[in-house]
Formats: sequence, structure tokens, C-alpha cells
Amino acid sequence: MVKMKEACGLFGVFGDPSAVEMTYCGLFTLQHRGQESAGIASIVDDEIHTYKGMGNVASVFKGRHLEDLTSDKAIGHVRYSTTGDSLFENAQPIVVRYQSGRQVALGHNGNLVNRNALRKELEEQGSIFASTTDSEVVLHLLARMHTQAEDLETALIATLRRLKGAFSLLMLWKDKMIAVRDPWGFRPLWYGKKDGAHLFASETAAFDIVRADTHDEVKPGTFVIVDENGRRDVEYIEEKPTPAHCLFEHIYFARPDSRLFGGDLVQDVRIAAGRQLAREHHVEADLVCAIPDSGNQAALGYSLESGIPLGFVFVRNHYIGRTFIKPSAKDRIAGADLKLNVITSAVKGKRVVVIDDSMIRGTTGKKRIQRLREAGASEIHFRISCPPTRFPCYYGINFKSKGELIASQKSLDEIRDFLNLDSLGFLSMDGLLDCVTLPADNYCTGCWTGNYPVLDDLDDDFERS
Ligand code: SF4
Repeated sequence: MVKMKEACGLFGVFGDPSAVEMTYCGLFTLQHRGQESAGIASIVDDEIHTYKGMGNVASVFKGRHLEDLTSDKAIGHVRYSTTGDSLFENAQPIVVRYQSGRQVALGHNGNLVNRNALRKELEEQGSIFASTTDSEVVLHLLARMHTQAEDLETALIATLRRLKGAFSLLMLWKDKMIAVRDPWGFRPLWYGKKDGAHLFASETAAFDIVRADTHDEVKPGTFVIVDENGRRDVEYIEEKPTPAHCLFEHIYFARPDSRLFGGDLVQDVRIAAGRQLAREHHVEADLVCAIPDSGNQAALGYSLESGIPLGFVFVRNHYIGRTFIKPSAKDRIAGADLKLNVITSAVKGKRVVVIDDSMIRGTTGKKRIQRLREAGASEIHFRISCPPTRFPCYYGINFKSKGELIASQKSLDEIRDFLNLDSLGFLSMDGLLDCVTLPADNYCTGCWTGNYPVLDDLDDDFERS
């Protein structure tokens, strides 16, 4: 079976002598999207050179690695994965040589839902795979198509039409870079400019960091080619589906200083979600506080709307990765103990509204509520700035079965009792959709509603809802 690859970060620069250094900075900015591995591929003397390793960007790259990669064209990737999938051979960018010695490097964000079927087909035709990722399937298909097609673009179009599910891709040849977005636009992918250079990034915050201008999104169902002649967009699908942008990116995954789908600033969406949460689930209380960091903006919104003062209660240790990202449940529980401390005097004898962005497994939330009780909070009202997450995600976020989702296993009353809360409230689906500007049907809401935009060709190892 092809292992699942999760939400990742992509960054690329074409046409700047500092392309590698900028890619390094871009990956640093996108580190929250993946901490399992990091890699950069660049063009040196007309050949693709690459360096990648397990761990975060700072631990993988030392000074000499960047010097060895020095180039005006580079792509980079940070990866987020699950148990069993955390292997060096799955680190990206993947670099291959195919027909007539052509070389290509590829980074992928998202999950192909028909990856096993495609891999089986390719293996039956003699393909040999070096990794367990779905991303390698794309390269094999492309190499095969390129032997039959008259040019790269025709081969790429034929390849992309075989893929189902979520794929934002960044590809590098010695003379061009191509950025691809799947027809539904599940994962973000942006185009930026800095002087004469072309840039691509999963999130716009990465452009800010390297002082590049955010230009526009790579449109769903389109690939953008940049080469010495400039930029060209190619629409590769015959019929456009309704977009299905991942709404969970706004709630949890993306940085608050990034813009997503249609240009909404993540911070604004999260504050609006907090305000809406206050309207839907008001309670008399002395203090609003966030589970940092991803609950911060929603807590501000809740406080502004309710008039209840916002306070700092939890202090986060920034030297521990996001516990949700750790590969095993054991790590998640151990990590949660170390990550946050409570300022006892801030909550003692107070009625506290605690805001978090989402509730997935409930393990971390339980520990935090327990810490608040120990600190002497007189009432604890837990508010979540998205609906209950009841269904698995097939498109690149790491919850794959209902069994691991607390809201799928317990009723809201049972969750309230399990967490030892005075009250519990989740934002409604309509309330959340009111916080973003694109029409409601332009977003994927599958993990909350069970309504999935792409179910055709779903591989057998996915748990169906
Ligand atoms: S199922 Fe949820 S996490 Fe997955 S793409 Fe859809 S909204 Fe995003």
C-alpha cells in the first residue's frame, strides 16, 4: 500500500541568485506544515542537486549544505507524516532521472485518493518504486506519459488528469519550474514576485518573510510554468468541478499571518469565528483565555464580542513541536504534559471560558482542563471555534479514522463529562462558513459534515464514513 502523506509545505524560487537561501527562509516560515523532514533541490551546472533529511529545517540544513546548493532556481519541501511513514526515502523533493536523462524534482502537498490503484497499475507495467509515497506515483506516470507525448506539457496534462484528490505540486527542471493545483483547490498554493524572480509558496506568510510580493493563487485545475520567457498558465482540466478548499486550513493548519483561498487573512477568519462562537454560545464568566497558539485569535474574537476580558492563562513552551503532529499517540500524550503550564493566580476562583480551535482526539484538551481545575478555576466553559470533527479526512490532514475522533465516539454531553467541564460549545457549520468570503459550497467540510467533494476512485484502505 502507498502510505498516506499529509499536509506539507512547498516553496520555490526561479530566477534569483539567492534562490536557495530564500527557499530555506520560506521553509522555515512553513515549518508548522511539517516537521518530519525537510529538503531543497536546486540547479547546479544544469543538474539537479538535492539535500534533504529527517527533522525540522534547522536540524537538517547546516551552512555548507546551502552553499553546495547555491543556484538561482530552487524548490523546497517540509513534510508532515504519520507512524510508519516517517522514512528518509519519503522525504522530498523527490528527484528522478527519466527518458533521455531528463531530471525532475518534485514536492507534493496533499493526498491522492486513487494512489494505490495507480501504483498497482504502474507496478503491473513494470515500474519499480523507491518510496511509499503517492508523490512518486506522479513521477512514474509523468515519465511514462512523456515517452508517448510529443512534449512535456502534453505529458503533464495527461498525467494530471489521472490524479484524484488533493495535490499542490511544485516541480523543477533545469530550465523551468511548474506549480500545479488540483481541480478542487484543496490545498493552498500561491505565486509571488520579487524583482524579476518568480516564487511559489503554500502560504503567503513565506513571501512576506523574503520580502516578495504576493501576486495571486495558482488556480484550481491549472499549472503555472515559469521559465526564461516568463509566466504562462495552462488549464489542464476539461470540466471544472466546484472548488473544495480545505476549511480546516483556516481553523488549524495555516499561520494566522497567511492569506488563503480567495485572499482571506487567516487571522481575520479566526477572530470572526471567535465572535460567532460568542454569539452562539454565550455564558456569564470572569475571563476568556486561549489554548495557545492556534486558539489565540478566536479567543480575542470571543472576548471582543462578549465583553468578557481576555487574559493569559496558559504559558506555552515553544521548544516542543505541535503535539498533534507527533507520529504516535504515545508521543502526543507525553508531549501534551510538557507543552503548556497554567498561571494559577490568573484563574483561581474565576469562571473561565477556554477557547480552542478544534477538538480532534480530546487527549490534550483533557489535560488542560485538569490543569485549570487544579489551579482552582471555579467554572470551566470550553468553546471550540469549529464544529465537532466527526469524520476522517481523505485529502491530507492526519485524522484517518472515526475511531480516533472523540466527537465521533461520544455525544456532546459525554465529551463534557469526560473533560470535566461546566459547559461545552462548538461553533456551528453555518456560523463557520459565515466567517469566510467565498460561497459556502466552495469549501470542503468533509470532516465535520461527512459530505466529501471527491469520493470517486477512493482507494480501499480509506475508512468510508
Ligand atoms: S475533510 Fe476536513 S481536513 Fe480534510 S480537506 Fe476537507 S475540510 Fe480539510
